[in-house]
Amino acid sequence: MTIATNQYAALTEETAIALAKSVYPFPEGAELSSREIGDGNLNYVFRITDSASGKGVIIKQALPYAKVVGESWPLTLKRAETEAAALLKHGEFAPGLVPEVYATDTDLAVTVMEDLSHLKIAREGLIAGESYPKLSSDIGEYLARTLFHTSDFALHPFEKKRLAAEFSNPELCKITEDLIFTDPFFDRETNDFEPQLRLAVEAIWNNAPLQLEAAKLKYSFLTEAEALLHGDLHTGSIFASAEETKVIDPEFAFYGPIGFDVGLFLANLIAQGITRTGEGRKVITDHIAKTWETFEGTFSALWEAEGVEAFKNTPGYREAILEKVFSDALGFAGCELIRRTIGLAHVKDLDGIEEEARRIELKKQALELGETLILNRRTIKDIGAVVRLAEGEA
Ligand code: ADP
Ligand code: MG
Ligand code: MG
Ligand code: MG
Repeated sequence: MTIATNQYAALTEETAIALAKSVYPFPEGAELSSREIGDGNLNYVFRITDSASGKGVIIKQALPYAKVVGESWPLTLKRAETEAAALLKHGEFAPGLVPEVYATDTDLAVTVMEDLSHLKIAREGLIAGESYPKLSSDIGEYLARTLFHTSDFALHPFEKKRLAAEFSNPELCKITEDLIFTDPFFDRETNDFEPQLRLAVEAIWNNAPLQLEAAKLKYSFLTEAEALLHGDLHTGSIFASAEETKVIDPEFAFYGPIGFDVGLFLANLIAQGITRTGEGRKVITDHIAKTWETFEGTFSALWEAEGVEAFKNTPGYREAILEKVFSDALGFAGCELIRRTIGLAHVKDLDGIEEEARRIELKKQALELGETLILNRRTIKDIGAVVRLAEGEA
């Protein structure tokens, strides 16, 4: 459904109610409440609720600039259209693992979607020590289904190229290119770190082999249009409970290397894992293993059942592709660990640790793990070796 308007205006809590009523079948005379709940960096998120039933919708609206920086950082409104289209496209292949989209509007830059307030943002829940037994199998499944089905392994090349053109997303990609692959590896203004980390950070800025590998990973991100990525798959983009997992916020969606989504999720698990000890850490390292195992198993099953014949009938090719995805994922995970520690946007898993000495020590571990993953991505044999690294045993 589309909405009858043709001019952009930032929504208010009042106009959001009117919009919600126009697209969602609230009961006659329902008392609707409205609140802006966005904790993200870039957009407005309004929750419109029917007071009687507690049921409602979410309206996400892009602003013409990045909320975190303000009007000095203009940012395309088209990202709302990209996000809605990606939710719909990924929803085709991973139904139940993304929110339902009720309506979209390009002019208003809004997506009206299912209210997932009964779930918790996975990062928050994990920090609070909650366990989400289905998290890694669901995300492994989501990754395999969305990435396989939008790749040349499943699609006719005409359809694949049509989609790649539709999801070109240059402005949002540029943010990733700078903030994940370049800035943290050089002395750039966007970097942000505690003074106690300065020596460790300067070691990165003076590490030519690491900078070289980060440049190669950036080039892979720029050029390898393998599948329709989510593009920002950190644990803050995932709603979870013991029973459910839903992936939100694909405004960075574009055609890129399959390992990018896999790697970002693994890195965010690793960052959470190092903040834990004993059994708590094992819960996370089990998630690390299960994410990859589920991804690999589901991707392989889809390849056999639905894959394009020419690839499917080439012996050893599936294994070769999965090997490439694995080493790419480790490299991207390494970049994500480093940038989430010293770049512009941090993670609460690490920043939220109150005791200073421990926080600094864990941040140093994150930087070291990041470096190891980037430099050794082609020789780390299997997910078991990654688990051992995340356990601090390798
Ligand atoms: P941003 O792109 O600005 O990061 P997100 O899509 O991540 O925006 O949403 C920001 C926050 O808004 C989420 O962390 C969550 O708290 C809330 N939110 C977003 N989508 C929904 C939803 N479908 N249901 C309930 N809350 C949501
Ligand atoms: Mg319109
Ligand atoms: Mg977000
Ligand atoms: Mg976002």
